[in-house]
Amino acid sequence: MGRSISILGATGSIGTSTLDLIERDPDAYRIEALTAQRDVAGLAAAARRTNARIAVIGDEALYADLKAALAGSDVEAAAGPDAIVEAAARGAEWTMAAIVGTAGLKPVMAALGQGGAVALANKEALVSAGELMTQAAQRHGATLLPVDSEHNAVFQCFDADRPNRIRKVTLTASGGPFREWSLDAMRAATPAQAVKHPNWSMGAKISVDSATLMNKGLELIEAHHLFPLGADAFDAVIHPQSVVHALVEYVDGSVLAQLGSPDMRTPIAHCLAWPDRMETPCRRLDLASIGRLDFAAPDLDRFPALGLAKDALAAGGARPAILNAANEIAVAAFLGGRIGFLDIALTVAKVLDRYDPPAPAHLDDVLAIDAEARRVALAATEVLAA
Ligand code: NAD
Ligand code: MG
Repeated sequence: MGRSISILGATGSIGTSTLDLIERDPDAYRIEALTAQRDVAGLAAAARRTNARIAVIGDEALYADLKAALAGSDVEAAAGPDAIVEAAARGAEWTMAAIVGTAGLKPVMAALGQGGAVALANKEALVSAGELMTQAAQRHGATLLPVDSEHNAVFQCFDADRPNRIRKVTLTASGGPFREWSLDAMRAATPAQAVKHPNWSMGAKISVDSATLMNKGLELIEAHHLFPLGADAFDAVIHPQSVVHALVEYVDGSVLAQLGSPDMRTPIAHCLAWPDRMETPCRRLDLASIGRLDFAAPDLDRFPALGLAKDALAAGGARPAILNAANEIAVAAFLGGRIGFLDIALTVAKVLDRYDPPAPAHLDDVLAIDAEARRVALAATEVLAA
């Protein structure tokens, strides 16, 4: 019997890439729980194929549909946000946390509470509740493995026994689809243009975050929680080819980097096999055919979201949770056609101006800050939409 695996957010971009790797070697794994929010057909199909013990749909109204879709199989069906948290707490040896947004926070905390390995793609959870999550991991002996390609790259280059010999961590950013666009052009950018990423195929929310560079900002905060260096040790550089994923600079001037074709199955496989390695079907890196690698400093005037995130990282406390919650609301409003592309960072800036509570001490504090920031953000987007 193989290692027990749960996938939270099994129907998304990261979830299906994880299933793709696992289903190439079915005897090595046993699927405990798969979860999704609304995609009943995708969830049921994956649960049947992998003979999962339980499949959970987040939207309670879809429970009957899920039951019907699983009829005749051995897969148990459940529904609702609490059922997702319970599924996360079933004690799988390895859990993929790939829900998008702070909706994934309670489930990921439940998984950490079981003390297994948690492969973390759900960066919003770490941005909102970083200290609480890393403390919980320590307390329960859980291992947090970074799935985000840049953080997985840092993880591979970072000498965790000698953090005081490390001077700087640099994350690369592709620059997204609007890397060379003027502010005027970005003002009129549509959701379809924003989600069309040049190098990576990803969910809608992170694709918009890549277009605003908020994704890189969230990632700087994420990195600060995963790697024990001061906030000012983390920076980002634009690298359009997405071949070098991150760089770690040591005090002697050595810089270690991890390279690879832009395919999330490589970092996912690294987390799945860790500390061993496994084969993947990913395209092998051929530098001669790529020819050149370019780098540039990010332009904070055209991409103000990155500046807002850097400020939140430096300030700490509740600022990252507010930044993240406001961004989730603003991105949803943009994707829904209610506000413009540049209004995303504008909304986040307004919420950070208007709401400044003390640092959260408990998970309930984080959830309350998250809820209030969403409320303020929603009001701000309604004014912009009017
Ligand atoms: P996606 O939108 O493709 O999938 C999201 C998954 O979460 C789906 O299974 C969906 O059903 C589930 N979900 C959505 N809302 C939910 C809710 N309210 N409650 C419970 N489940 C919910 O997103 P994705 O691109 O796979 O990204 C997932 C996470 O991984 C994000 O945090 C993203 O930032 C991170 N990430 C993604 C990539 C990538 O290449 N896609 C790379 C690095 C990090
Ligand atoms: Mg990334």
